[in-house]
This record gives sequence, structure tokens and C-alpha cells, in this order.
Amino acid sequence: MNASTQALPVVVIGAGPIGLAAAARLIERDLEPLVLEAGPTAATAVRAWSHVRLFSPWSEVVDPAAEKLLAPTGWVRPDGAAYPSGADWADLYLQPLADVLGERVRYNATVTGVSRAGRDRIVDADRDEQPFVIHLTAPDGAEERIHARAVIDASGTFSTPSPAGGSGLPALGEKAAADRISYRIPDLKDPAVRARYTGKHTAVIGTGASAFTALAYLADLAKTDDGTGTHATWILRRGISGSTFGGGDADQLPARGALGLAAKAAVDDGYADAVTGFRTDAFERDGDGRLVLVAEDGRRLDPVDEVIILTGLRPDLTFLDELRLSLDERLQAPTALAPLIDPNQHSCGTVYPHGATELSHPEKDLYLAGMKSYGRAPTFLAMTGYEQVRSIAAHLAGDHEAAERVELTLPETGVCGGAGLFDEPAAEESGAGCCAAPATLTIGSPAATGGC
Ligand SMILES: Cc1cc2nc3c(=O)[nH]c(=O)nc-3n(C[C@H](O)[C@H](O)[C@H](O)COP(=O)(O)OP(=O)(O)OC[C@H]3O[C@@H](n4cnc5c(N)ncnc54)[C@H](O)[C@@H]3O)c2cc1C
Repeated sequence: MNASTQALPVVVIGAGPIGLAAAARLIERDLEPLVLEAGPTAATAVRAWSHVRLFSPWSEVVDPAAEKLLAPTGWVRPDGAAYPSGADWADLYLQPLADVLGERVRYNATVTGVSRAGRDRIVDADRDEQPFVIHLTAPDGAEERIHARAVIDASGTFSTPSPAGGSGLPALGEKAAADRISYRIPDLKDPAVRARYTGKHTAVIGTGASAFTALAYLADLAKTDDGTGTHATWILRRGISGSTFGGGDADQLPARGALGLAAKAAVDDGYADAVTGFRTDAFERDGDGRLVLVAEDGRRLDPVDEVIILTGLRPDLTFLDELRLSLDERLQAPTALAPLIDPNQHSCGTVYPHGATELSHPEKDLYLAGMKSYGRAPTFLAMTGYEQVRSIAAHLAGDHEAAERVELTLPETGVCGGAGLFDEPAAEESGAGCCAAPATLTIGSPAATGGC
């Protein structure tokens, strides 16, 4: 890399927890970060789920380098044993961190393309010597081009939720039914959202922590607004097995285990019915405009007023199209990382700490980090991302020994058998197992618990 390229900043895409931690780690290494954030504030994606409580306590969601950067401002980490909400995470830690970074964070800067200066994807000549070129768009449509010595894409996956369709494509009629569909955990403290679900029959599609949370919220709504007829139908593509509800009491993250237990309670207590082995093929309307879910096997459910689709998240790779990525064909995660996080192979949720080596691509000095690095795998934890960017910053600074060192022990989940820990894994079919009976059943009944 020549001197003028070396003088350029390391561009970090996204001012989420991992992008901001990357900036802190780069500063620690005397490298200059420039964080580009699409939203108007730090942690725009986290703020979209402000109302959701994390299953990780404060002690596991603050990056050590960020904490050092914040210390001179008098910042003190909240009680390590307490569990922040998304709003707490953003307001009490991530925005103060972004404020300390100051002009190194640019807001309203959506990255729309990344390439090598003067080298499209097919050109080899001196490719590694060229700086990266990054195209940005402001909310008013104004375009800008900047250059970077390296790029860390920590743009997450939150803006690209997976559809309901069992094939991975939207179900027929899914787009046309948008007025009655949401892809987010509802914020029932918001009066408008609460009104939307009160007294309504809502289908929740998905089997990860987000679906568990939505089911628990809807059960609470039904309890509070007793008599209004609030009810949920929980749609599972696979059957119900011992792992359906996550790690439960065996999860080393107890709050995460509790999410599955809360979903189970919602069904056991009669606030939700579970429909298993249902792969949504189409959304149709009844005479009142309500939605009828039709399965690939032809089954049709009773009409529902609302549908909440929480079938996982997937990475947006469109703006990286001119770069040479090495991605696993199933998970869309870096090829060397994928075997470590593949839900088919690591259904117990164990994830090995990893860093620059596993996250590198044929495109030198380009890294996908954070939630995006997991592609469609559902088990990402913030502490994994903090370790990733520690290693990447060390590697970029030439400290290869530190880049290879593992400085993290991750919790086991105690979950085995293919269940989604965070959101429904791409490989959910593998969990179909012996309980994949195409039937409507109530969890806790003999039909649900026997056999597996
Ligand atoms: C509901 C929920 C609960 C979770 N709970 C936990 C938990 O308890 N513990 C835990 O460890 N993990 C948890 N996670 C997982 C994970 O830690 C978080 O999703 C975390 O926010 C991921 O951080 P990130 O920085 O990789 O991505 P994000 O937080 O998604 O941040 C990405 C940022 O990039 C920006 N961006 C996107 N595209 C562009 C673009 N083209 N140009 C510029 N900027 C862009 C976004 O606006 C966003 O600010 C949870 C996730 C969710 C959704």
C-alpha cells in the first residue's frame, strides 16, 4: 500500500454497536476511522427495537476499547448485571460513544456502493494497491464519493428481514397484504401499535427469539385486555421438539432462555395456538379483507387480522457487488467463518471466537463484521462482534500476533437440535424431525411433548 493510500481513513459502514466498537479499536491502534451511518443518529437499527429488552446484561454488551474511550468523559457503565432495553443500549452507551467519536461519525450517509478505485470486479492489475472507493447518498439524494485504505462493513442485517414464504421468496400475495403484515416485534407501549393488535387475531410466523418475544408480548396484551378477544396463532415451519423453545433453563444466557419459556407459556396458557409443519405458500383475503394463510400442502388457516413475520434476517450484499467476496453459499457468511456458525453443524449454539483470519476475503483489507458477518445464521452476539473488530484492527495495524489471539469465551446455549436462538435459522428444515406433524396442536398437550 503506498503512502497516500495509507493516509486514508478506514471506513466503517454502520454506527451500530459493532461499527462503533470497530472505530474505538482502530483509534486504539492509531488508525483513523470514518464511520458512515445511514440513519440520523447512532444505533439506528437498535433504536428500531428500542422497546425490546436485551437478553444480555450490560457486562456483555459494552466493548472494552469503547469503555476506555468513554472514561475521560466521566461515563460509567450501568450496572453490569442489569439488562438494558434497545433504547437503553442506544441512549446510555452507543450515542455517547458516537458523540466521543465526534466528526469521525457521519450521519445520513447511506453507502450505496464500494469498489476499488479504477478497478471494477474483473480487473486484477495492482488491485490490492488501490484504495477503496465508497459511494454515499444523503437523504436529499445528493451523492458523494470518498476513498479509504480499508473497509469494515458493520451494516447489520436489520433492514433486510426474510419473507414468510417457505421457499425463502415472498409468499404469493405477501407484498399485496402489506397493510396487515409487519416484520418487527410490536411495541405494544405505543398506543397506535397496541390498538392495531388489541382484540385481533394475529399470526406470528417464526421460531427464533424475536418470535418468542412477539408471542409473549401478545399474551401479555391478551391478559391485560381480557375479554377483547386478542389471540395469536403461532406458525412453525417445522415440528415441535425439545429444542423448539431454545435453551430454557439450560441456556447460559438465562434471559434468552426465558424468552422461549415465555413463548411456551403463551401457548400453554391458551393465549396462542401453535400450527406446526406449515410452510406458508400464499396470503389470500376473505370477504372482510382478513388474511387467509395457505400452506404449500394446501392447508388453509382461519382468517387472521394481522400477521407478524419473524423468520430471520439476511445480509444486503448489493452495495458490495464490485468486490471479490468469499461467502458460504448457504449462510452468506464469510467462507472460513461459516463452518463455525452453521446451525446445521452447531445446533447447540456454540460459536467459536474468531477474527481477521476467518473474516477475510479475496478482496484485501475488506471485512464484514458484526451481525452482517453471520449472514443468515441466527446466533450472533454483540460480544462476538467486539472480538471480531479487535482482531481486525490489530491485523490492519500489522499486529498479527494480537489478531490471531483469542480473547473471548462465549456462552454455551444448551440448545441442541436446530432451533433458532435469535431468529429462525436458514437451515430450519433440518429441524423438522419426528414431530413435524402437519397439525394444529397446543404445546404442553401429550401430542406436543411426546415422541421426540
Ligand atoms: C431484537 C433484537 C434483540 C437482540 N438482543 C441481543 C442481546 O440481548 N445480546 C446480544 O449479544 N445480541 C443481541 N442482538 C443481536 C445483535 O447484537 C444486535 O442486532 C446488534 O445490534 C448487531 O450490531 P451490528 O453493529 O452488527 O448491527 P446493527 O445494530 O444492525 O447496526 C448496523 C448499522 O448500520 C447502519 N446501516 C445499514 N446499512 C447501511 C448503509 N448502506 N450505509 C450506512 N449505514 C448503514 C444501520 O442504520 C445501523 O445503524 C439482538 C438483535 C435484535 C434484532
